Amino acid sequence: MRLVKHLANLGYGSRKDVQKLIRMGVFADTDGERLSDDAKIAHDDVRYKGRPLDPDHGVVLLMHKPVGYVCSTKDTGQLVYELLPARFRDRKPVLSTIGRLDANTSGLLLFTDDGDFLHRIISPKNHVPKVYEVTLARPLNGHEGAIFESGTLLLEAEKEPLKPAFLEVTGETTARLTLYEGRYHQVRRMFAAVGNHVETLHRARMGELTLGDLKPGQWRILTPEDIQKLL
Ligand code: URA
Repeated sequence: MRLVKHLANLGYGSRKDVQKLIRMGVFADTDGERLSDDAKIAHDDVRYKGRPLDPDHGVVLLMHKPVGYVCSTKDTGQLVYELLPARFRDRKPVLSTIGRLDANTSGLLLFTDDGDFLHRIISPKNHVPKVYEVTLARPLNGHEGAIFESGTLLLEAEKEPLKPAFLEVTGETTARLTLYEGRYHQVRRMFAAVGNHVETLHRARMGELTLGDLKPGQWRILTPEDIQKLL
């Protein structure tokens, strides 16, 4: 693929913008030498402002989603995409969130441009655990764990019972819940089904991957080692 088209697909700007940036020397080779528009150069040998390019197809981003942001590309509220640099909003193929978190849920959110990877992570067949920290409006009664684990809990308007989920009580009104599937508002609806109400919800882990030092609103590109923690 031509260099200009490749850089435009990575979201660095329109073909015209990218051409200008190449001529300005913003893109260069590993020795800092200016490139020509039609340079025959490998992705890994191009530098953008002296740094390697964003990964080519197959990029995975990890974000600490703050409360108040919506997992959508077109909604009226604040969008999680607004927390990323513009080039990640303009990539082709587009970056999608791997599953969603509600606007008032915080925590671990992944994005990718790789449809196969996305389906692999969200498919219940692959059993990638998702761990949520929950604060409840009312004290736990001690029966919730057995109900969630039974694999028989049927949520309103659903035909299939939920897969077994695991509850660890961490306080009178706090718990850690591990799910192996992701249905609409699942955690909130599960607690509503046992007569409680979720006050705060935070996704702390997917597979073996955690947020580490990322603060709300921060993000990073996952390394191949990080990605292994999800598989
Ligand atoms: N379950 C919910 O109810 N909300 C989320 O954001 C994630 C899981």
